[in-house]
Amino acid sequence: MSYYVGLDIGGTSIKAGLVSKGKILSKAVVKTQTRKGTKAVFRNILDAIDSVKTKDISGIGVGCPGPLDYKKGVIINSPNVPLKNFKICSKLKKRFNTKVLLDNDVNCFALGETLYGSGKDFSFVVGVTLGTGVGGAIVLDKKIYHGRSNAGEFGHMTIKYDGEYSKCGNTGCFETMCSARGILRIAGLKGLKVRSPKEIYDLATNKDKVAKKVFEEYGEYLGIGLTNIIYALDPKVIIIGGNISLAWKYFSKSMKKSISKRCMFEPSKVLKSELRFAGIIGAASLF
Ligand SMILES: [Zn+2]
Repeated sequence: MSYYVGLDIGGTSIKAGLVSKGKILSKAVVKTQTRKGTKAVFRNILDAIDSVKTKDISGIGVGCPGPLDYKKGVIINSPNVPLKNFKICSKLKKRFNTKVLLDNDVNCFALGETLYGSGKDFSFVVGVTLGTGVGGAIVLDKKIYHGRSNAGEFGHMTIKYDGEYSKCGNTGCFETMCSARGILRIAGLKGLKVRSPKEIYDLATNKDKVAKKVFEEYGEYLGIGLTNIIYALDPKVIIIGGNISLAWKYFSKSMKKSISKRCMFEPSKVLKSELRFAGIIGAASLF
């Protein structure tokens, strides 16, 4: 049996898991500590790997927010992690003396879900993550589709040409509407004073009508972005992950309605992510 380490590097935490055949056998979560700089973050990455790895691992798979060069194993400039032009694969290879592969964190999420989660019965899967940003990934015949390198960056498709400014330089991106900041803006316009999507979720759970409306409107915007993806790719299924997806029961109805209203043919299935740590499992499955 082969064992791999899957690593999911994020702006808040670094998650590592010892994985075999899609099952996490042990797991470690350490703080990224981005403010302490590159050296500290890399030390935390090493700690995370050290705490789960066994002697006989066959490789380490790394998932990290892009842009990155997956072929060369270099993190180019990840906005939320201080690892610039960072040759992570060669550094980890040197330290652990094993094969190392790198890919975008959302690609890893989608691969994990396709192989072992909601997408396991489908040959053409799109993954969309809703959190600090909006991420996307394409998995075709159980393999990540990269295009030239950056296929699936759906978060920066324009949904509203005169909309809010996005960090990519564009305006009215899918991400400006459907990220945490996007849903907080919808809440603000409705007079709801909240600081995180979780607070809106808690209010909705307490039957707050305004909070429920916020999720309904959010679902409509989400439906616009997803319809564009369906028109471009017509995948068998779209899997929704990320923190905001936990509010599925509050936005999925308006999301589906928004898609049906806009799509002139039978739309792709849209499902909620099934795995708790799809990013770790997907990173370990890069091999
Ligand atoms: Zn953008």
